[in-house]
Amino acid sequence: MKNYMKLEFAALSENEPFARNAVAAFCLGLNPTLDELSDVKTAVSEAVTNCIVHGYRGASGTVCIECETEGCAVHITVSDRGRGIEDVKRALEPFYTTSEGEERSGMGFTIMQTFMSDFGIESEIGRGTRVRMSKYFGRNACSEVANAE
Ligand code: ATP
Ligand code: MG
Repeated sequence: MKNYMKLEFAALSENEPFARNAVAAFCLGLNPTLDELSDVKTAVSEAVTNCIVHGYRGASGTVCIECETEGCAVHITVSDRGRGIEDVKRALEPFYTTSEGEERSGMGFTIMQTFMSDFGIESEIGRGTRVRMSKYFGRNACSEVANAE
């Protein structure tokens, strides 16, 4: 059976460790390796931080995370109802950041794409941003489980 969870929390930086660890705990049922779990935590941390820092820029709001399992994969969406992104293609480029001088490197989206198996993004100005990421845990072991199901 598919497993699912939804988490909504205030867009405060103190909630980022909570969010990344909640997603990691949800993934434990899929028997990830420590490296795989670490990849998911890093990607979720980047996505949540973007919602808080760029989506709301200190204004109040909420971040929503949804996780769903499919075989040995987890599909994760991280969304905000903040400012949205003007030029998504540009935002995805390595080292592109709108936060110059604030010690941001512009590598968040690149990290998400590198550490996760699949990545997608939808954004609309004034309406918010939704990042979709999937991670396939232990591909070989997974195909055995899928065959057995
Ligand atoms: P870093 O992640 O390395 O600290 P960064 O956040 O600027 O730096 P990315 O995470 O790659 O880099 O994001 C690139 C740009 O996309 C951001 O500078 C910002 O302009 C825009 N952006 C990203 N996420 C959002 C969001 N949720 N809402 C609005 N704009 C966003
Ligand atoms: Mg970022």
